[in-house]
Amino acid sequence: MLGEIKGLNEECGVFALWGHKEAAQLSYYGLHSLQHRGQEGAGIVVSDEEHLHIHKGLGLVNDAFKEGDLEALEGHASLGHVRYATAGGGGLDNCQPLMFRSQTDSLAIAHNGNLVNAHNLKLELEDQGSIFQSTSDTEVIAHLIKRSVYPRMEDKLSDALSMVEGAYALAVMTEGKLLIAQDPHGLRPLSIGKLGGAYVVASETCAFDVIGAEYEREVQPGEIITFDRNGMRSELYATPAERRMCSMEYVYFSRPDSNIDQINVHTARKNLGKKLAAEAPIEADIVTGVPDSSISAAIGYAEEAGIPYEMGMIKNRYVGRTFIQPSQELREQGVKMKLSPVRGVVEGKRVVMVDDSIVRGTTSRRIVTMLKQAGAAEVHVRISSPPITHPCFYGIDTSTKSELIAATHSLEEMREEMGADSLSFISIDGMLDGIGRQDKDSNCGQCLACFTGNYPTDIYEDTLHPHDKVING
Ligand code: SF4
Repeated sequence: MLGEIKGLNEECGVFALWGHKEAAQLSYYGLHSLQHRGQEGAGIVVSDEEHLHIHKGLGLVNDAFKEGDLEALEGHASLGHVRYATAGGGGLDNCQPLMFRSQTDSLAIAHNGNLVNAHNLKLELEDQGSIFQSTSDTEVIAHLIKRSVYPRMEDKLSDALSMVEGAYALAVMTEGKLLIAQDPHGLRPLSIGKLGGAYVVASETCAFDVIGAEYEREVQPGEIITFDRNGMRSELYATPAERRMCSMEYVYFSRPDSNIDQINVHTARKNLGKKLAAEAPIEADIVTGVPDSSISAAIGYAEEAGIPYEMGMIKNRYVGRTFIQPSQELREQGVKMKLSPVRGVVEGKRVVMVDDSIVRGTTSRRIVTMLKQAGAAEVHVRISSPPITHPCFYGIDTSTKSELIAATHSLEEMREEMGADSLSFISIDGMLDGIGRQDKDSNCGQCLACFTGNYPTDIYEDTLHPHDKVING
């Protein structure tokens, strides 16, 4: 997956478990399978019913946890998190779960998504005396929970969530309870599974497979689910709004072996490739996909077009993460290190190069140049998502509007800039059809805001980058 070099990154992954004596160990495996959702930090909190115990660290799950760390996390319930920093910046203080201890009890919290009114709420809370230990928007929710006057934790959480807006798939743990919640639009995926008598919650269903858990269902928009010694209980804390699952979860972020709302991600991507081939056919000798996230769509394109799919590029899996390198120039060198053309495959060929998205356009230009330098006779770029013309405020680190190439260039200008022989994007209808959600409303239950600018929630002034102030205007 090329997220870190494209400027398009998922924020986080959540994995929680209730009712298993090896809760920490299972969370460790679960977090490994969610590693693609965040590589900047990882953490696990466990409850032994009397106390919460935490370990977290920077980097990949393997870096954050060393031998012996898990043994210290004894308990029957766990809450784990992998982080990519979109809101709040990096550093251990911002790694989740965040934990708060008081005289009477403790609370741990982890979330995937982004709040659009966190800044305003934080200012209000600070005015009222709150002191923040991190710059993460998740901490705002923790403060709101702590300030709530309700005695029951479910009501405290419900009270807190009634004040926040944005995208959140959230988990909260106390000594005696695990609570999970989904925002009223259901923007981020969150599923529940069972492992024998234990309950498992994960941002993606691939985390169930790795520990042998069975998928049960999705957490519904506006729902709070409580796990405690009495089992599992569900209640609605908000009237569910129209479902708006992030389209990019299907297109790009989630792992191909995950299902979102029971639609397999690989199958959805393959269908996107088929739709793209029908909408934007071209005479060519081979189809190739940018590894790894575009391979499913490239296979679909090849199948529909009747053109052989070939491995025109390979990815070096052992190159370090490129996003930590500061300059654009170095990041672009990172592209070179990560991807190599297969000269023997592309030389002299008319190549259809399928990619899942274009953000700034720099990666696409590099790849086209690379294929041509390897001898490709023609390179036709086909993109399995519509043009990204607006930034995301819901936890996906797209660039600011001014940096999005599709917001500032025509199709022909983009084609020219990347040096491609032709360029086409899938249409919005083609994408909705390809993913195939059956929701009855006009968007098939998907968020399309980065393609249309129609955000499902209010967007506040402080969430906008200075260059993007006209976004809703
Ligand atoms: S704006 Fe785009 S990336 Fe963000 S949640 Fe909506 S569909 Fe996903």
